[in-house]
Amino acid sequence: MTNGKTLEEWSEEINSTIEKVGKMQGVLAEMTKVLLQQKNAMNKNAQGAAELTAEEKAKLLEKGTCPDCGGLSFYPGPEGGLSQNLKCVTCGSSFNVCAPFFAERI
Ligand SMILES: [Zn+2]
Repeated sequence: MTNGKTLEEWSEEINSTIEKVGKMQGVLAEMTKVLLQQKNAMNKNAQGAAELTAEEKAKLLEKGTCPDCGGLSFYPGPEGGLSQNLKCVTCGSSFNVCAPFFAERI
């Protein structure tokens, strides 16, 4: 060998690269965690309740059943505009509903 690095130097460089990759993986894992937290935060409405999924909305708006417990009875709450607050008699989950267009947890 005329130029370049010795085996020891290569070995050192490879080890230092492996170390860097390991650190980057740690950073990526941390970033992923932060992004997931942000995503979860965005899926909550102003009251901090989780948004209804499309499936839950369909249960509520199309079948008139509570997406949490399947209950069929609701206490009517205050009405505002075209929407009405509903509270499930069975499990107490509350929703703001404007059938058949819109539903959210409250
Ligand atoms: Zn319920």
